[in-house]
Amino acid sequence: MSEMIRNYDVEALVKSDTAHHLHPFTDHKGLHGEGGSRIITRAEGVYLIDGHGERILDGMAGLWCVNVGYGRQELAEAAYRQMLELPYYNTFFKTAHPPSIELAEKVASKLPADFNRVFFANSGSEANDTNLRLVHHYWQSVGKPEKVNIISRENAYHGSTVAGASLGGMKPMHKQGGKLIPSIHHVMQPYWFKLGGDMDPAEFGLHAAKQVEEKILELGPETVGAFIGEPIQGAGGVIIPPETYWPEIQRICKQYDILLICDEVICGFGRTGTWFGLENFGIEPDLITMAKGLSSGYLPIAASGVSDRVADAVMENGGEFYHGYTYSGHPASCAVALANIEIIERERLVEKVADETGPYLAEAIKRFDDHPLVGETRTRGLIGAIELVKDKKTRARFEPDGKAGTVCRDEFFKRNAVMRACGDTMVLSPPLIISKQEIDALFDIAEESLDAAAAKLGVM
Ligand code: PMP
Repeated sequence: MSEMIRNYDVEALVKSDTAHHLHPFTDHKGLHGEGGSRIITRAEGVYLIDGHGERILDGMAGLWCVNVGYGRQELAEAAYRQMLELPYYNTFFKTAHPPSIELAEKVASKLPADFNRVFFANSGSEANDTNLRLVHHYWQSVGKPEKVNIISRENAYHGSTVAGASLGGMKPMHKQGGKLIPSIHHVMQPYWFKLGGDMDPAEFGLHAAKQVEEKILELGPETVGAFIGEPIQGAGGVIIPPETYWPEIQRICKQYDILLICDEVICGFGRTGTWFGLENFGIEPDLITMAKGLSSGYLPIAASGVSDRVADAVMENGGEFYHGYTYSGHPASCAVALANIEIIERERLVEKVADETGPYLAEAIKRFDDHPLVGETRTRGLIGAIELVKDKKTRARFEPDGKAGTVCRDEFFKRNAVMRACGDTMVLSPPLIISKQEIDALFDIAEESLDAAAAKLGVM
């Protein structure tokens, strides 16, 4: 590898980046004021390496996606081989190629038994777009075209296309979005720590699910086509719902004949110690959104898992599905995703998260429970959260919302570790290959960073 390491003129790169690159989810005025971007040039294992040679412990697996860790030569080789053999051909108009066929079969084999088909896209946003199209196509195919309304949750993240932003419940995105899709409605998220008040978690889980039922009754069940949710909300703040929540949602969807879309973009491919997050809660969806861990981010690829209920109906009665992307089932992306799933299987990463590192993380994070800035810690597998509060007892937050999170995140980054702030919730989602020692190293930095943040916020 070392002969491949390139030397970069970091100052010139920062200057050029500032001049020409509009970054996603970035306040550009703020970024430029702070001297521009940190330039990441390489990565290996769970570490990023910046242009100055600093090693940064990546507690977020990139954007919740690099499940098998960085520097996997066999994934690069899978892409290389496939690009030489067949770099591109589409899967429209009665053609297919070996990698798209093999990957569809492989993914279907990991999904619940009544899922036998997948539809490929390039990003989680696109796959959710596809799922939205499939919901409408399904209800039209079975003669109920009026079931157009979709229910989602506040503060959910389902992508950044118009459909993704509409399905999501992020208020700042909605504000900038102009007229988003008006048939998508949002109800309370099952976020006990913030919204639970005096209820115990079990009671609150039922209360949050009840909001879905009330929304269905308000809109009229005959007009509601689907409910969408992540098993554990990721970007919404790693919201692990109370155990009562999903069974009640499931009951409601069945009672009113509403399709359930399970967004597994973050939870899928081992993150929670199972192949899919739905296995934690007994969720029985009709459509499943996958991306990120499908290829561990080495190449862009996403997929919609389509249950037999939906697939059979649209194939029987639907005619042509007028939908697809030029790069649906891109050969190189499929080849990389296949090799990535092989690594997850061979190295038993799902079992490792379930039996070793997940339980270790759950124990290790408890060291913060007594910290004056911390109101709650929670984990499931290798996804976790630390709630930042002004007052531990009352769960009172700092004003304005998000300030404490930003202070904390910057302290982490200064100390060469990445944890993300979702409002005032610090979240983590490291590569699934992280070792116990690396978890300790991450939390040593977290402790120093929390202390520094507490001093800055006047808590200590
Ligand atoms: N759904 C969920 C749950 C996500 O977390 C994300 C991305 N963070 C998306 C959808 C959108 O995926 P992408 O950024 O690949 O479009």
